[in-house]
Amino acid sequence: MQNKKNVLNYVFGNGTYKHLEELLTLKRRSNKETAIIFVDHFFRSTTNFLNQIDQERDLIFYIDSNEEPSTDMVDSLVNEITEKMSSDEICALVGIGGGVVLDVTKAVSNLLTNSGKAEDYQGWDLVKNPGVYKIGIPTISGTGAECSRTCVMMNVKKNLKLGMNSDYTIYDQLILDPSLTKTVERNQYFYTGMDSYIHCLESLNGSYRNGIGDVFSEKSIELCREVFSSEEMMSDEMREKMMLASYFGGCAVANSLVGVVHPFSAGLSVVLGIHHCLANCIVMNVMEDFYPEETKEFKLFMDKQKIELPKGITDELTDAQFDKLYLSTIIHEKPLENALGANFKTILTKEVVIKIFRRM
Ligand code: NAD
Ligand code: ZN
Repeated sequence: MQNKKNVLNYVFGNGTYKHLEELLTLKRRSNKETAIIFVDHFFRSTTNFLNQIDQERDLIFYIDSNEEPSTDMVDSLVNEITEKMSSDEICALVGIGGGVVLDVTKAVSNLLTNSGKAEDYQGWDLVKNPGVYKIGIPTISGTGAECSRTCVMMNVKKNLKLGMNSDYTIYDQLILDPSLTKTVERNQYFYTGMDSYIHCLESLNGSYRNGIGDVFSEKSIELCREVFSSEEMMSDEMREKMMLASYFGGCAVANSLVGVVHPFSAGLSVVLGIHHCLANCIVMNVMEDFYPEETKEFKLFMDKQKIELPKGITDELTDAQFDKLYLSTIIHEKPLENALGANFKTILTKEVVIKIFRRM
Protein backbone atom coordinates (compact mmCIF):
# COMPACT_ATOMS: atom_id res chain seq x y z
CA MET A 1 0.00 0.00 0.00
CA GLN A 2 1.24 3.49 -0.86
CA ASN A 3 0.14 5.41 2.24
CA LYS A 4 1.48 8.95 1.86
CA LYS A 5 2.24 11.46 4.58
CA ASN A 6 2.82 15.23 4.51
CA VAL A 7 3.91 17.71 7.19
CA LEU A 8 1.11 18.02 9.75
CA ASN A 9 1.43 21.62 10.93
CA TYR A 10 2.72 24.79 9.43
CA VAL A 11 2.55 28.54 9.83
CA PHE A 12 3.16 30.71 6.78
CA GLY A 13 3.87 34.40 6.33
CA ASN A 14 6.38 37.19 6.84
CA GLY A 15 7.53 37.49 10.44
CA THR A 16 6.16 34.09 11.51
CA TYR A 17 9.63 32.99 12.66
CA LYS A 18 8.92 35.06 15.77
CA HIS A 19 6.46 32.34 16.86
CA LEU A 20 9.24 29.82 17.39
CA GLU A 21 9.44 30.17 21.18
CA GLU A 22 5.63 30.06 21.41
CA LEU A 23 5.63 26.73 19.55
CA LEU A 24 8.45 25.38 21.71
CA THR A 25 6.59 26.35 24.89
CA LEU A 26 3.70 24.16 23.74
CA LYS A 27 6.09 21.21 23.64
CA ARG A 28 7.97 21.79 26.91
CA ARG A 29 6.64 19.53 29.64
CA SER A 30 8.83 21.41 32.12
CA ASN A 31 10.61 24.70 31.84
CA LYS A 32 13.93 22.87 32.04
CA GLU A 33 13.50 20.88 28.84
CA THR A 34 16.01 21.83 26.22
CA ALA A 35 15.42 22.74 22.60
CA ILE A 36 18.32 22.00 20.30
CA ILE A 37 18.63 24.51 17.52
CA PHE A 38 20.67 23.88 14.36
CA VAL A 39 21.27 27.11 12.47
CA ASP A 40 23.06 27.81 9.20
CA HIS A 41 26.40 29.49 9.90
CA PHE A 42 25.30 32.52 7.85
CA PHE A 43 23.10 33.58 10.80
CA ARG A 44 25.99 33.63 13.27
CA SER A 45 26.68 37.22 12.25
CA THR A 46 23.09 38.48 12.11
CA THR A 47 21.94 40.12 15.29
CA ASN A 48 18.44 39.65 16.78
CA PHE A 49 17.72 36.52 14.86
CA LEU A 50 17.91 34.18 17.83
CA ASN A 51 16.83 36.67 20.50
CA GLN A 52 13.86 34.57 21.48
CA ILE A 53 16.09 31.63 22.38
CA ASP A 54 17.14 31.22 26.02
CA GLN A 55 20.77 30.29 25.47
CA GLU A 56 21.21 29.17 29.09
CA ARG A 57 18.63 26.44 28.60
CA ASP A 58 18.68 25.72 24.87
CA LEU A 59 21.60 24.50 22.78
CA ILE A 60 22.56 26.18 19.54
CA PHE A 61 24.74 24.50 16.92
CA TYR A 62 25.93 26.57 13.96
CA ILE A 63 26.20 24.32 10.92
CA ASP A 64 28.75 25.02 8.20
CA SER A 65 26.78 24.52 4.99
CA ASN A 66 29.87 24.76 2.79
CA GLU A 67 29.99 21.00 3.18
CA GLU A 68 26.95 18.91 2.31
CA PRO A 69 25.94 16.69 5.29
CA SER A 70 27.84 13.47 5.81
CA THR A 71 27.01 10.45 7.94
CA ASP A 72 30.16 11.18 10.01
CA MET A 73 29.04 14.74 10.70
CA VAL A 74 25.60 13.56 11.82
CA ASP A 75 27.12 10.84 14.06
CA SER A 76 29.42 13.31 15.74
CA LEU A 77 26.55 15.77 16.44
CA VAL A 78 24.51 12.92 17.94
CA ASN A 79 27.46 11.90 20.15
CA GLU A 80 27.96 15.45 21.33
CA ILE A 81 24.28 15.77 22.28
CA THR A 82 23.94 12.39 23.98
CA GLU A 83 27.03 13.10 26.10
CA LYS A 84 25.17 16.14 27.48
CA MET A 85 21.61 14.79 27.84
CA SER A 86 19.17 11.98 27.11
CA SER A 87 16.46 12.32 24.48
CA ASP A 88 13.81 12.63 27.28
CA GLU A 89 15.34 15.94 28.30
CA ILE A 90 14.89 17.41 24.82
CA CYS A 91 11.55 19.02 23.94
CA ALA A 92 12.33 19.62 20.28
CA LEU A 93 14.94 19.97 17.58
CA VAL A 94 14.79 23.00 15.33
CA GLY A 95 16.48 23.31 11.92
CA ILE A 96 16.93 26.87 10.60
CA GLY A 97 18.63 27.05 7.21
CA GLY A 98 18.70 25.54 3.73
CA GLY A 99 18.65 21.90 2.69
CA VAL A 100 21.88 21.19 4.56
CA VAL A 101 20.63 22.28 8.00
CA LEU A 102 17.11 20.95 7.43
CA ASP A 103 18.55 17.54 6.55
CA VAL A 104 21.03 17.45 9.44
CA THR A 105 18.18 18.19 11.87
CA LYS A 106 16.05 15.39 10.46
CA ALA A 107 18.89 12.86 10.65
CA VAL A 108 19.86 13.79 14.23
CA SER A 109 16.22 13.61 15.32
CA ASN A 110 15.93 10.05 14.01
CA LEU A 111 19.21 8.94 15.59
CA LEU A 112 18.34 10.26 19.06
CA THR A 113 15.60 7.61 19.28
CA ASN A 114 17.10 4.86 17.10
CA SER A 115 20.38 3.28 18.16
CA GLY A 116 23.31 2.83 15.82
CA LYS A 117 24.88 5.08 13.22
CA ALA A 118 23.51 7.31 10.48
CA GLU A 119 24.61 4.91 7.74
CA ASP A 120 22.47 2.12 9.25
CA TYR A 121 19.39 4.06 8.14
CA GLN A 122 20.46 5.16 4.65
CA GLY A 123 17.84 3.57 2.45
CA TRP A 124 14.07 3.10 2.48
CA ASP A 125 11.94 2.70 5.61
CA LEU A 126 14.70 1.49 7.92
CA VAL A 127 13.95 3.90 10.81
CA LYS A 128 12.06 1.96 13.52
CA ASN A 129 10.99 4.61 16.06
CA PRO A 130 9.64 8.15 15.62
CA GLY A 131 12.42 10.71 16.08
CA VAL A 132 12.44 13.62 18.53
CA TYR A 133 9.77 16.25 17.69
CA LYS A 134 11.20 18.64 15.11
CA ILE A 135 10.46 22.06 13.66
CA GLY A 136 11.82 23.14 10.27
CA ILE A 137 12.40 26.78 9.33
CA PRO A 138 13.72 27.11 5.75
CA THR A 139 15.79 30.21 5.01
CA ILE A 140 16.26 29.54 1.27
CA SER A 141 13.66 28.00 -1.05
CA GLY A 142 13.78 25.24 -3.61
CA THR A 143 14.91 21.83 -2.40
CA GLY A 144 11.63 20.96 -0.70
CA ALA A 145 13.70 19.48 2.14
CA GLU A 146 11.27 21.20 4.50
CA CYS A 147 8.52 18.75 3.57
CA SER A 148 10.19 15.71 2.00
CA ARG A 149 10.57 12.31 3.71
CA THR A 150 14.33 12.11 3.25
CA CYS A 151 17.54 13.71 4.50
CA VAL A 152 20.41 13.36 2.08
CA MET A 153 23.83 12.42 3.48
CA MET A 154 27.16 11.61 1.91
CA ASN A 155 28.70 8.37 3.14
CA VAL A 156 32.35 8.92 2.30
CA LYS A 157 33.51 5.37 3.05
CA LYS A 158 30.85 3.81 0.81
CA ASN A 159 31.03 6.58 -1.85
CA LEU A 160 27.27 6.81 -1.48
CA LYS A 161 24.89 9.76 -1.34
CA LEU A 162 21.61 8.56 0.11
CA GLY A 163 19.02 9.68 2.64
CA MET A 164 16.97 8.16 5.44
CA ASN A 165 13.74 7.77 3.47
CA SER A 166 11.08 7.37 6.12
CA ASP A 167 7.78 8.88 7.26
CA TYR A 168 9.59 9.59 10.55
CA THR A 169 11.95 11.91 8.68
CA ILE A 170 9.10 14.35 7.89
CA TYR A 171 9.01 17.51 10.01
CA ASP A 172 6.26 17.75 12.66
CA GLN A 173 5.97 21.52 12.28
CA LEU A 174 7.12 24.09 9.73
CA ILE A 175 7.53 27.82 9.98
CA LEU A 176 7.49 29.13 6.41
CA ASP A 177 8.62 32.73 6.63
CA PRO A 178 9.59 34.32 3.29
CA SER A 179 11.21 37.30 5.04
CA LEU A 180 14.08 34.98 6.01
CA THR A 181 15.18 34.45 2.40
CA LYS A 182 15.90 38.12 1.71
CA THR A 183 19.63 37.84 2.35
CA VAL A 184 20.33 34.88 0.05
CA GLU A 185 22.97 35.59 -2.62
CA ARG A 186 21.35 35.91 -6.11
CA ASN A 187 23.04 33.03 -7.93
CA GLN A 188 22.45 30.72 -4.97
CA TYR A 189 18.78 31.78 -4.86
CA PHE A 190 18.44 30.80 -8.53
CA TYR A 191 20.30 27.48 -8.24
CA THR A 192 18.32 26.34 -5.19
CA GLY A 193 15.00 27.65 -6.55
CA MET A 194 15.58 25.74 -9.75
CA ASP A 195 15.67 22.49 -7.76
CA SER A 196 11.86 22.78 -7.43
CA TYR A 197 11.42 23.33 -11.16
CA ILE A 198 13.72 20.41 -11.98
CA HIS A 199 12.17 17.96 -9.48
CA CYS A 200 8.73 18.71 -10.88
CA LEU A 201 9.57 18.57 -14.58
CA GLU A 202 11.29 15.24 -13.97
CA SER A 203 8.23 13.92 -12.14
CA LEU A 204 5.79 15.09 -14.80
CA ASN A 205 7.89 13.56 -17.60
CA GLY A 206 8.23 10.21 -15.81
CA SER A 207 6.14 7.07 -15.91
CA TYR A 208 5.76 6.70 -12.14
CA ARG A 209 2.92 9.20 -11.69
CA ASN A 210 -0.15 9.77 -9.61
CA GLY A 211 -2.81 12.46 -9.53
CA ILE A 212 -1.74 14.04 -6.25
CA GLY A 213 1.93 14.23 -7.22
CA ASP A 214 1.00 15.73 -10.60
CA VAL A 215 -1.09 18.52 -9.07
CA PHE A 216 1.70 19.44 -6.63
CA SER A 217 4.23 19.42 -9.51
CA GLU A 218 2.07 21.51 -11.82
CA LYS A 219 1.47 24.14 -9.15
CA SER A 220 5.14 24.27 -8.24
CA ILE A 221 6.21 24.69 -11.89
CA GLU A 222 3.60 27.40 -12.42
CA LEU A 223 4.98 29.33 -9.42
CA CYS A 224 8.59 28.83 -10.59
CA ARG A 225 7.64 30.24 -14.02
CA GLU A 226 6.18 33.34 -12.38
CA VAL A 227 9.28 33.81 -10.23
CA PHE A 228 11.96 33.25 -12.86
CA SER A 229 10.17 35.13 -15.67
CA SER A 230 9.51 38.13 -13.42
CA GLU A 231 11.51 41.34 -13.59
CA GLU A 232 13.01 40.64 -10.15
CA MET A 233 12.99 37.07 -8.88
CA MET A 234 13.90 38.23 -5.36
CA SER A 235 11.18 40.83 -4.77
CA ASP A 236 9.08 40.30 -1.61
CA GLU A 237 6.24 38.92 -3.71
CA MET A 238 8.46 36.54 -5.66
CA ARG A 239 10.29 35.23 -2.58
CA GLU A 240 6.91 34.38 -1.11
CA LYS A 241 5.92 32.53 -4.30
CA MET A 242 9.29 30.76 -4.34
CA MET A 243 8.75 29.49 -0.80
CA LEU A 244 5.39 28.06 -1.86
CA ALA A 245 6.92 26.53 -5.00
CA SER A 246 9.50 24.82 -2.81
CA TYR A 247 6.86 23.49 -0.43
CA PHE A 248 4.69 22.12 -3.25
CA GLY A 249 7.77 20.78 -5.04
CA GLY A 250 8.75 18.86 -1.89
CA CYS A 251 5.21 17.45 -1.59
CA ALA A 252 5.43 16.45 -5.27
CA VAL A 253 8.67 14.53 -4.78
CA ALA A 254 7.16 12.65 -1.87
CA ASN A 255 4.55 11.39 -4.35
CA SER A 256 6.76 10.70 -7.37
CA LEU A 257 10.31 10.15 -8.61
CA VAL A 258 12.93 12.32 -10.27
CA GLY A 259 14.30 11.57 -13.75
CA VAL A 260 17.46 12.08 -15.79
CA VAL A 261 18.78 15.34 -14.29
CA HIS A 262 19.25 14.15 -10.71
CA PRO A 263 21.36 11.06 -11.55
CA PHE A 264 23.76 13.18 -13.66
CA SER A 265 23.78 15.82 -10.93
CA ALA A 266 24.60 13.17 -8.31
CA GLY A 267 27.54 12.12 -10.50
CA LEU A 268 28.90 15.68 -10.42
CA SER A 269 28.43 15.87 -6.64
CA VAL A 270 30.09 12.53 -5.90
CA VAL A 271 33.03 12.83 -8.31
CA LEU A 272 33.68 16.60 -8.39
CA GLY A 273 32.13 17.68 -5.07
CA ILE A 274 29.76 20.18 -6.75
CA HIS A 275 26.79 21.06 -4.53
CA HIS A 276 23.41 19.60 -5.39
CA CYS A 277 21.56 22.66 -6.71
CA LEU A 278 24.44 24.10 -8.76
CA ALA A 279 25.11 20.62 -10.16
CA ASN A 280 21.44 20.35 -11.18
CA CYS A 281 21.66 23.63 -13.10
CA ILE A 282 24.87 22.58 -14.87
CA VAL A 283 23.10 19.39 -15.98
CA MET A 284 19.83 21.11 -16.89
CA ASN A 285 21.74 23.38 -19.26
CA VAL A 286 22.63 20.35 -21.47
CA MET A 287 19.40 18.31 -21.28
CA GLU A 288 18.16 19.08 -24.82
CA ASP A 289 18.00 15.37 -25.74
CA PHE A 290 15.70 14.46 -22.85
CA TYR A 291 13.78 17.60 -21.90
CA PRO A 292 14.00 19.91 -24.97
CA GLU A 293 11.20 22.35 -24.07
CA GLU A 294 12.21 22.67 -20.44
CA THR A 295 15.89 23.14 -21.33
CA LYS A 296 14.92 26.01 -23.61
CA GLU A 297 12.83 27.53 -20.83
CA PHE A 298 15.64 27.07 -18.29
CA LYS A 299 17.99 29.06 -20.55
CA LEU A 300 15.39 31.84 -20.87
CA PHE A 301 15.17 32.00 -17.05
CA MET A 302 18.97 32.26 -16.82
CA ASP A 303 19.04 35.10 -19.37
CA LYS A 304 16.16 36.94 -17.74
CA GLN A 305 17.74 36.80 -14.27
CA LYS A 306 21.32 37.27 -15.58
CA ILE A 307 22.63 34.09 -13.96
CA GLU A 308 26.03 32.67 -14.85
CA LEU A 309 27.00 29.01 -14.70
CA PRO A 310 30.56 27.70 -14.46
CA LYS A 311 31.70 26.44 -17.87
CA GLY A 312 34.13 23.76 -19.02
CA ILE A 313 33.99 21.89 -15.73
CA THR A 314 34.84 18.55 -17.36
CA ASP A 315 37.48 19.88 -19.80
CA GLU A 316 40.47 18.64 -17.82
CA LEU A 317 39.13 15.34 -16.52
CA THR A 318 40.93 12.02 -16.97
CA ASP A 319 39.38 8.88 -18.47
CA ALA A 320 39.26 7.39 -14.99
CA GLN A 321 37.20 10.35 -13.76
CA PHE A 322 34.79 10.02 -16.70
CA ASP A 323 34.42 6.32 -15.83
CA LYS A 324 33.53 7.31 -12.27
CA LEU A 325 31.06 9.91 -13.51
CA TYR A 326 29.38 7.28 -15.67
CA LEU A 327 29.15 4.77 -12.81
CA SER A 328 27.83 7.24 -10.27
CA THR A 329 25.12 8.35 -12.73
CA ILE A 330 23.95 4.97 -13.96
CA ILE A 331 23.69 3.61 -10.40
CA HIS A 332 20.45 5.60 -9.93
CA GLU A 333 18.23 2.97 -11.47
CA LYS A 334 14.86 4.01 -10.03
CA PRO A 335 14.78 7.56 -11.45
CA LEU A 336 16.37 6.49 -14.76
CA GLU A 337 13.81 3.77 -15.16
CA ASN A 338 11.09 6.30 -14.31
CA ALA A 339 12.36 8.57 -17.09
CA LEU A 340 13.51 6.18 -19.79
CA GLY A 341 11.97 2.78 -19.06
CA ALA A 342 13.45 -0.52 -17.88
CA ASN A 343 15.93 -0.58 -20.76
CA PHE A 344 17.46 2.79 -19.88
CA LYS A 345 20.98 1.37 -20.21
CA THR A 346 20.48 0.90 -23.94
CA ILE A 347 19.73 4.64 -24.23
CA LEU A 348 22.26 5.85 -21.68
CA THR A 349 25.25 3.90 -22.94
CA LYS A 350 28.63 4.78 -21.48
CA GLU A 351 29.47 6.68 -24.66
CA VAL A 352 26.28 8.75 -24.51
CA VAL A 353 26.70 9.55 -20.80
CA ILE A 354 30.30 10.69 -21.25
CA LYS A 355 29.35 12.78 -24.28
CA ILE A 356 26.77 14.61 -22.16
CA PHE A 357 29.29 15.21 -19.35
CA ARG A 358 31.78 16.59 -21.91
CA ARG A 359 29.26 19.29 -22.91
CA MET A 360 29.14 20.74 -19.36
P1 NAD B 1 22.27 25.01 1.53
O1 NAD B 1 21.83 24.55 2.86
O2 NAD B 1 23.27 24.22 0.77
O3 NAD B 1 22.79 26.51 1.62
C1 NAD B 1 23.26 27.16 0.47
C2 NAD B 1 23.91 28.47 0.83
O4 NAD B 1 22.93 29.44 1.17
C3 NAD B 1 24.85 28.38 2.02
O5 NAD B 1 25.99 29.13 1.74
C4 NAD B 1 24.06 29.03 3.16
O6 NAD B 1 24.91 29.63 4.11
C5 NAD B 1 23.29 30.07 2.39
N1 NAD B 1 22.05 30.53 3.01
C6 NAD B 1 20.98 29.81 3.43
N2 NAD B 1 20.01 30.63 3.86
C7 NAD B 1 20.48 31.89 3.73
C8 NAD B 1 19.93 33.17 4.00
N3 NAD B 1 18.68 33.34 4.42
N4 NAD B 1 20.69 34.27 3.74
C9 NAD B 1 21.96 34.13 3.23
N5 NAD B 1 22.52 32.94 2.96
C10 NAD B 1 21.77 31.83 3.20
O7 NAD B 1 20.98 25.23 0.61
P2 NAD B 1 20.07 24.36 -0.30
O8 NAD B 1 20.46 24.59 -1.69
O9 NAD B 1 18.69 24.64 0.16
O10 NAD B 1 20.35 22.86 0.13
C11 NAD B 1 21.19 21.97 -0.56
C12 NAD B 1 21.19 20.67 0.23
O11 NAD B 1 19.86 20.14 0.25
C13 NAD B 1 22.08 19.59 -0.32
O12 NAD B 1 22.82 19.04 0.74
C14 NAD B 1 21.10 18.56 -0.88
O13 NAD B 1 21.61 17.25 -0.82
C15 NAD B 1 19.93 18.74 0.02
N6 NAD B 1 18.65 18.35 -0.56
C16 NAD B 1 17.77 17.70 0.23
C17 NAD B 1 16.54 17.31 -0.24
C18 NAD B 1 15.58 16.59 0.64
O14 NAD B 1 14.49 16.26 0.20
N7 NAD B 1 15.92 16.33 1.86
C19 NAD B 1 16.18 17.60 -1.56
C20 NAD B 1 17.10 18.27 -2.36
C21 NAD B 1 18.31 18.65 -1.84
ZN1 ZN C 1 17.06 18.04 -5.99
